Amino acid sequence: MMLGFLLARSGIDVIVLEKHADFLRDFRGDTIHPSTLELMYELGLLEEFLKRPHQETREIAAQVGNETIPIGDFTHLPTHCKFLAFMPQWDFLNFVAEKANCYPEFHLKMQTEATDLLQENGRIAGVRAKTQDGLIEIRSGLTVGADGRHSVIRQRAGLEVMDLGAPMDVLWMRFSHRSGDPRQSLGRASAGKVFIMIDRNEYWQCGYVIAKGAAEQTRNQGIVKFREEIARLAPFLQDRVGELGDWNDANLLTVKVDRLKKWFRPGLLCIGDSAHAMSPVGGVGINLAIQDAVAAANILGPGLAAGSVAESDLESVERRRDFPTRATQKLQIAVQNRVIRRALSTSAPPKLPFLLRLVRRFPVLGRFPARVIGIGFRPEHIRTRDMHTSH
Ligand SMILES: Cc1cc2nc3c(=O)[nH]c(=O)nc-3n(C[C@H](O)[C@H](O)[C@H](O)COP(=O)(O)OP(=O)(O)OC[C@H]3O[C@@H](n4cnc5c(N)ncnc54)[C@H](O)[C@@H]3O)c2cc1C
Repeated sequence: MMLGFLLARSGIDVIVLEKHADFLRDFRGDTIHPSTLELMYELGLLEEFLKRPHQETREIAAQVGNETIPIGDFTHLPTHCKFLAFMPQWDFLNFVAEKANCYPEFHLKMQTEATDLLQENGRIAGVRAKTQDGLIEIRSGLTVGADGRHSVIRQRAGLEVMDLGAPMDVLWMRFSHRSGDPRQSLGRASAGKVFIMIDRNEYWQCGYVIAKGAAEQTRNQGIVKFREEIARLAPFLQDRVGELGDWNDANLLTVKVDRLKKWFRPGLLCIGDSAHAMSPVGGVGINLAIQDAVAAANILGPGLAAGSVAESDLESVERRRDFPTRATQKLQIAVQNRVIRRALSTSAPPKLPFLLRLVRRFPVLGRFPARVIGIGFRPEHIRTRDMHTSH
């Protein structure tokens, strides 16, 4: 969506396909990071964007056992917004779609599912897609796979995937919000359990982290025991754990961390989770996908405007985004293995990881995780122009 918006803004004809009828999907997280807000500022959209319902968090903390440990303080970041915005992804995507729709070059086709690639003379020449009215073919000078961690595009393109491993899956559920609830808390780790809570104003979006493949085992314990478990992890939810009627109210989200060996083929580029599925750790996947889109627009825009994209341009996009992706995944995997895997595999009270002990002792060190989470490695900036207003 973001790449489609930026290209259409530069006067390039774009078709964005979305297989669902709306963006009301609960699998992408909710965090809009300072670096994404900075892009909104550069696009002249920040003020309008911040009028949409959202919550602002200037510091994030984790509760380990009975102790609340600060993890990141965003107030020192060199960005216009020194906070993380929590906004449901459907609101964010609707906002970007609304802005993109102002450009005649932008075409969003909902309920259109890419199912295969068109290939001509060794080049990807577009996609086959399923619509309500049957199968269609769309020809394009460049096809971009931005279809997430279960990408059909990368699979059909035969791009090789390196599975980097994830020790957990997440049961995703919601509870109503009541007055007197505590201030937002991002995560709680307690003997053998990890529980995430996101304050969405009217309700709490919660994630119960389980060991990879342990969903069946958790369900076999029964919903009553599970409700008790939630109440133990977050005692303020005790009076409403009954809102979890049955297991249909706790969706299983599978976590993947992987990366393509090569992100492109002639006529095709993958970005976002399609090129590198991100762990929920740090809540940075959306941010990385958006940064990929900005880099792709910056690098490919001139070629696309002139009518063709060379393979070397596609390679430049991968080269530009390879380091931030690897570095972020490396950190995510370290947290997964050292904190989450350990927390899930022992029933002993969790030990505070070394890094968090350091941050507790020297709060100024909280600026480092804030920078990695809030801005990330090698932040991108809007270099493309709005061809319709000449800024
Ligand atoms: C449990 C969990 C929690 C997470 N929490 C956070 C968080 O809080 N913050 C954060 O930044 N990241 C979070 N992440 C990571 C984040 O969700 C991803 O990194 C991010 O969504 C990637 O964006 P994307 O645009 O590449 O793909 P996606 O967000 O997956 O978007 C792909 C889109 O393509 C559509 N699509 C798929 N296949 C097709 C097809 N064949 N044809 C047409 N359309 C198709 C999908 O419907 C979807 O709209 C979380 C991940 C998990 C597993």
